[in-house]
Amino acid sequence: MSVYQGLTYGGSSWTPEFVQAIDPDKCIGCGRCVKVCSHGTLGFGNLDDDEDADRMQANISNKDNCIGCMACGKTCVKKAFSFEVKEI
Ligand code: SF4
Ligand code: SF4
Repeated sequence: MSVYQGLTYGGSSWTPEFVQAIDPDKCIGCGRCVKVCSHGTLGFGNLDDDEDADRMQANISNKDNCIGCMACGKTCVKKAFSFEVKEI
């Protein structure tokens, strides 16, 4: 198994870690992650659960756009994100 590798501007290799999930039990709906993602990967909306119909949370709306920078996870004070490497 190989893992997808990226390159820095200077040519050093690094391993992108792509967004995998957002834990709904941790997300408080602050919206920081949605603002920090420059690739339109994350969305923001209501939970489907009737009990929490007014509660807003982040979601992964377009995973295919993720570049694996992990900026969303770094900005999340609740540590709600999990990431995965991409096997090739
Ligand atoms: S930064 Fe964390 S707590 Fe805030 S909306 Fe995103 S996942 Fe939820
Ligand atoms: S890892 Fe980067 S590109 Fe992917 S969702 Fe997070 S901030 Fe956006």
